[in-house]
This record gives sequence, structure tokens and C-alpha cells, in this order.
Amino acid sequence: MNAQPKTPATFDIQRIRADFPVLSRTVHDGKPLVYFDNANTSQKPVSVIEAVNRHYRETNANVARAVHQLGEESTAAYEGARDKLARFINATSRNELILTSGTTQSINLVAYSYALPQLKPGDAILTTVMEHHANIVPWQLVAARSGAKVKAAPIDQRGELIVEQFVAMLTPEVKLACVAHVSNVLGTVNPVREIARECKKRGIPLLVDGSQAVPHRPVDVQALGCDFYALTGHKMLAPTGTGALWAKREHLEAMPPFFGGGEMIREVGFNGTTFAPPPHKFEAGTPNIAGFVGLGAAIDYYESIGFDAIHAQEQDLLHYATERLREIPGVRLFGEAREKEAVISFLLEGAQATDLATLLDLQGVAVRSGHHCAHPLMQFFNVPATLRVSLAFYNTREEIDVFIAALLKVRKLLM
Ligand code: PLP
Repeated sequence: MNAQPKTPATFDIQRIRADFPVLSRTVHDGKPLVYFDNANTSQKPVSVIEAVNRHYRETNANVARAVHQLGEESTAAYEGARDKLARFINATSRNELILTSGTTQSINLVAYSYALPQLKPGDAILTTVMEHHANIVPWQLVAARSGAKVKAAPIDQRGELIVEQFVAMLTPEVKLACVAHVSNVLGTVNPVREIARECKKRGIPLLVDGSQAVPHRPVDVQALGCDFYALTGHKMLAPTGTGALWAKREHLEAMPPFFGGGEMIREVGFNGTTFAPPPHKFEAGTPNIAGFVGLGAAIDYYESIGFDAIHAQEQDLLHYATERLREIPGVRLFGEAREKEAVISFLLEGAQATDLATLLDLQGVAVRSGHHCAHPLMQFFNVPATLRVSLAFYNTREEIDVFIAALLKVRKLLM
């Protein structure tokens, strides 16, 4: 696992926790909430909640269509979020950033607009065994329509991608490679720069699913060297129904639109319709304006804390929780990659994951159990499900102690 950075002295965890109203609530007859399901969706700071609230109270109007003041303010706020997000991931241009409802929509957009028009029988899309279904099923759907196939590169028992095998599978029939930046089940950080270099040498475009990376580490899409980068807002402090696809301009210019409708056209006629330039070509219809206002506030919040402090706090929690879990007899950990984000999957011998999650919940500890939308990964480890603890910078060691005490109690009950 990564060398452990130190949480800076300026990191005031109590002040940070006070920014997240839901963290102070209780569940199940007065048990303080311990929220360890952050990879599923993060909690939202008050600045995000208030930005959304203020938008509806003071500004609400549709974007791009109105010349009145509210319409202009709304458009400025929505486009302002695009600017912030473009800067946040170091996109070369705001016009390379398409605002979507989340990673699922972003990947489907690439599947239907980029991949499908060029796939032929015999072509292949290369992905990995550790992907979320959102980075598998869209490829299967377009493969079924085009006669192409989907191949999956293997991982090892530590939960790391076997990079040499991935590279060996980059054969000439591969028309697109697709990898997670960070695994939602194992926390494994994939060596995206190296993968991108290998793809580039062979002229194969690379899509990166950044859902679990952007909330935890600084992302620089130019430095990564990929072609497409998908992300989702609700895992990074922002409202649900927000996300983005960053793509290189050359791809966006060549790609036909996916959804047709208002806002994405230049001129419509029954003899032919011409389209707006990217990004608007891919943003038909009324977007989640208030959601993106919230996303802008979420980025401000991340920047006010800084990823050095976030990373140090999360790595401290990851190490502490992993060590505490290792002390419990019968615990089997899944995913011990050398570079990990703060996600821990495990099972307890003799207990079903769902029973454990339900009993933990009764003690106030919210974790996720199940296949985590990663059936192929469950098949690789030969288990139907795992329990997943996913931590965020607003969690604490004390909460980990509560979780471990709850787990020991549950273990006694079930043994
Ligand atoms: N990819 C990964 C790695 C994820 O963890 C998730 C959500 O859990 C997704 C894709 C799908 O994201 P969304 O449901 O926000 O579109």
C-alpha cells in the first residue's frame, strides 16, 4: 500500500464535519450515524446545499434561451460550473467538457456516438475485469449491434491490473480501450499514464472511468494522456444527476450527436439540420442547471481544503481501518494493491455480506454489501458479494473504532 502522507495540522476535522449536516444525525433510535458508503454517493456540504437552494430561490430560469436577467444569470452559473470543472481536471478547453447526468451517460455517449459508427465485425473493445458495469455493458451493447467483441484484461490476487497482459491484449483489432482510474470495489489505482502511453503507441484511443478518482485525488486529463475521461458529480460532494465527459477536441468534432433536440443545433430544416459546435452539440434539452450550480460549489469546497490534506486524511483512515480489520479473526480482505484509495472490501468467515451490513446498519454504521455493480470482479474472486467500507476525508478514526466494535459485536452474534 502507498507510503502514508501526514494530515496537515491545519486540517480541522471538527470544522469540516460541521459543514456536512447529515453527519450529525442519528439513525435507529439515537445511534450516531457512521457513514462509510462514500463510494456509492458522497455527503454534501452546506455550501452545496445552499447554492442549489439559492439558485431556486433567486435565479431559477432556463439556460441559453432567455434574454431576461434571470436567464442570463442562470446561464452564467451553469457555464461557470463548466469553467470550474474544466479547470479542476485541467482540460485544455471548456469546449471539450460535455456536461452529462453522470458517468453512465458519459460512457454511453462515447459508446453510441464514438464507437458504434466505426465498429465492424471482428473489431474489439478492451476493458478490464475490475470495471463497474457502466464500463462494461455499454460496450457489450454496441458490440452486439456491430459484430465487435468485448475483451477483458486480467487482474492478480492483490487486485492490481496485470499491465503486461493488458498491453499484450492491445492488438490491431482493438478500436478502444476502457479502464477505471480507481476501482470502486478494491480501491486499486490503475497506472493510467502508462496505459495511455501504450495505447498511444498503437494508435488506440483510451477512455478512463474517473468516477472514483476525481473525489479523492487531483486529476489532470492532459497529463494522464487519455482520450476520454468520464466522471460523476454525486460522488464528489455535488448533487445527483450531474457529471461530465471530457474528450479531445478531434474526437468531439468527428462524433455525431447522440441525443437530438433543443440547444444542440445551429439551424433546423426539413431538408437538413446543422449542429452547434461541441460541447453544446452533445447537450440536447434542458440540463440539470441547479445540480451544476451545486457542482460548482462542490469544486470550490474541494479547493478550499486542498487535495494534499484530503489525501493525507483519507490515506490515514485507509491504513488505520485496514489494520484494525486485519486484527479480526476470519476477516478476508479483497484488494491489497500497492496504490489504493480509501475503499476496503472484505468478508467475515461464516457470515453473509448482506446480514452483516443489515446488522451494522442497526448499530448506525452504513456500509454497502453486494456485488457493487462488478459481477466479473466477484466472479474473479469467486464470491457472490462483499462488504465495502468506503471512506471520505470527513470520516474519522473514532468512527472506524465504532465500526470495528460494531463488527465484533455482530461477529459474536453470528458465530
Ligand atoms: N463507474 C464507477 C467506477 C462507479 O463507481 C460508478 C458508480 O458507482 C459508476 C461508474 C456509475 O456512476 P453513475 O451511476 O453516477 O453514472
